[in-house]
Amino acid sequence: MTEWKVTMLGTGSPRPDLERSAPSQVIHFGDLPVLIDCGEGTTAQLQRAGIPPQSITNLFMTHLHSDHILGYGQFLLGGWGLGRRKLRIIGPKGMKHYHDTMLSLFKDDIDYRVKLGRSPKGVRENVEIIEMEGPGELDLKSNEIPARVFIAEMVHNVPTFGLRFEGENQVIVHSGDTAPTENIVELAQDADILIQDAALAVNETYKNPSDPELKEIWDNLQKEHCTPQQAADIAKRAGAKKLILTHFLPNIDKDRAYEEASAVFDGDIVIGEDFQVIDLTLTMQG
Ligand SMILES: [Zn+2]
Ligand SMILES: [Zn+2]
Repeated sequence: MTEWKVTMLGTGSPRPDLERSAPSQVIHFGDLPVLIDCGEGTTAQLQRAGIPPQSITNLFMTHLHSDHILGYGQFLLGGWGLGRRKLRIIGPKGMKHYHDTMLSLFKDDIDYRVKLGRSPKGVRENVEIIEMEGPGELDLKSNEIPARVFIAEMVHNVPTFGLRFEGENQVIVHSGDTAPTENIVELAQDADILIQDAALAVNETYKNPSDPELKEIWDNLQKEHCTPQQAADIAKRAGAKKLILTHFLPNIDKDRAYEEASAVFDGDIVIGEDFQVIDLTLTMQG
């Protein structure tokens, strides 16, 4: 059986944070690494994790918020420079426009490098873009990923898709950004690993917000993301085996996040950190 595992590349949020890079994770299907989201710093994070950026030829974008896509320009052009000659990107509507905008912004740059003798494959050619409409099973023709891929719409303020990778004996689910919804409970049914938005883990800034503006932001964020308890409740109801919490603000209270989640879910809980490698082995029996 091909071994599946996850490398957490970026467990942060839109807030710049030296401890946590912007959202981006790798799911490894045996030797095939697949990138989920491409926040700022993703290419460097891949290199630090020992994953050659050019080895990524499949990229899923859960949604087009800046924290998930700002690393795309360097991923595209830098990865091409490192020798990537084919690429497939699966994202929501607007992905093609974003990619084309990048090509047009850097037209002279790409022209110059092609003139030097580099093949346009992997940047202007041999790039396939699939825009997700969902829900249901994605039709990935010539799918090299050894999994069926199912998508469901999440509750966020722009079109956002949760992803379910289902093999013969293994299931990994990625929630994208979302407030609690039945759609993620269904999508994550019996998952071996659920990578779940828990952006509303409390940090210093929001512990006791006295500033009314902060309070208003925090209250409004409840409609867009999950708390660790809500993430745990999703994992419990889905019957997931292992829950990885991610998308954290700077300086969260990790112990508190773990306590809140473990009060609800008695499977494995991981408070995500950059560069963690997580396989399907369980340490706790739920
Ligand atoms: Zn978002
Ligand atoms: Zn986000």
